Amino acid sequence: MNSSQYDIVVIGGGPAGSITARYAAEKGAKVLMLERDREAGIPVRCAEGVSQNGIAPFIDIDPKWIAATIDSACLHSPDGEEAYMYNNGVGYVLERRIFDTELCNLAIQSGAEMLTKADAVGLEFEGEKITGVRYIHNGENKIATCSIVIGADGVESRVGRWAGINTTLALNDIDTCVQYTVSGTDFEADTCHFYFGRDVSPGGYIWIFPKGEKTANIGIGISGDMAADKGPKEYLDEFMEKHFPEVSINYTVYGGVPTAWGLNEYIKDNIMLVGDAARQVNPITGGGIVQAMIAARIAGQVAADSIAAGDQSKKYLLRYKKEWDAKLGKTQKTMYAMKEKFMNMKDEKFNKLVNLCQGIPKDEFSLKKLFSVAMKGNPLLMAEIAKAFVVSKLK
Ligand SMILES: Cc1cc2nc3c(=O)[nH]c(=O)nc-3n(C[C@H](O)[C@H](O)[C@H](O)COP(=O)(O)OP(=O)(O)OC[C@H]3O[C@@H](n4cnc5c(N)ncnc54)[C@H](O)[C@@H]3O)c2cc1C
Repeated sequence: MNSSQYDIVVIGGGPAGSITARYAAEKGAKVLMLERDREAGIPVRCAEGVSQNGIAPFIDIDPKWIAATIDSACLHSPDGEEAYMYNNGVGYVLERRIFDTELCNLAIQSGAEMLTKADAVGLEFEGEKITGVRYIHNGENKIATCSIVIGADGVESRVGRWAGINTTLALNDIDTCVQYTVSGTDFEADTCHFYFGRDVSPGGYIWIFPKGEKTANIGIGISGDMAADKGPKEYLDEFMEKHFPEVSINYTVYGGVPTAWGLNEYIKDNIMLVGDAARQVNPITGGGIVQAMIAARIAGQVAADSIAAGDQSKKYLLRYKKEWDAKLGKTQKTMYAMKEKFMNMKDEKFNKLVNLCQGIPKDEFSLKKLFSVAMKGNPLLMAEIAKAFVVSKLK
């Protein structure tokens, strides 16, 4: 069997994998990144919303992967009212196919090797020690030996399980999603819309993310434990029938989003998980692109340092957890606690929240203002959730 030697093998070429590979290679490690599809970023299973602030540290902003620039969010309450929220910073709806490829190019430019159509099928062990990755490339079985494996293989990650890590998600910690990319009507090209309500999307929300004026991603995510009697597609089809009966559906995606606070264990001797594989997703919004990039930069740097130090023990690699916790991991726990409240929030509270937003003039709108208005009416929780929702969606 064909075998080659690397310091680090990264499994998955999404944002988590490409950023890990790039930052590890920048520090001089010999890195191989395996992507099972013929191109990173396809099929697109994402609404493609990010904030400028979130991605700018990682990539020069380039119109070629921006489908729409967003400057407001519109919240729709269960009783049919709407309120625009401004001044939350610039957001983008991406062309992820191009964006993900560009991130891979940056990794390659930093010295990482990348193979597409390379499907990782298992780990190599010497005794208990992980020593490499088995993969199939162009129909051929191959082995890449290495000192560290990075599992960046997304929500359905198998790498963690191969290493004996428990990656199981409870039903209420995974959102089941359906999304249609549609055209055939006009959309507000600078606004993302969010619809809430028990009858609209229990324990989640429906989104409209424009991709220009004529195309949009319209999708739904509902909590797994609320999808038994009626699934997300049924809710979304009802919504489409009511609001967009005339559009044509160009593309449909189904996918899961982890909404756990994280994983108890995602680091062991010679292995680390990152991105969706490590459940590093905002539990309220389901946004994971920027979270993956932030975690991946840390993971890549720590992995490269561990190669230089000649120490790939769990003890050494736990620096990744420490830095992730300080940067975002602890916030994830707070978000998770708020998600529980958000999921069980009654429709009347959503109505009240939207009502509060309506009362703030556009040029005075800020999350601080919303918070102070809410404080007067005392719906503290709602203001916190609104703040967390919008800020984190745009992170
Ligand atoms: C419907 C939906 C809407 C979403 N909307 C948003 C949004 O608007 N904003 C946002 O921030 N996040 C959103 N997300 C979440 C976001 O897509 C993920 O958090 C993000 O893609 C995580 O990046 P990743 O690199 O960890 O995983 P992925 O992007 O899933 O990349 C994993 C990669 O690993 C590859 N792979 C898997 N197994 C193997 C293997 N065995 N061998 C080799 N390669 C392998 C896959 O082909 C894939 O390319 C959404 C998710 C869904 C499902």
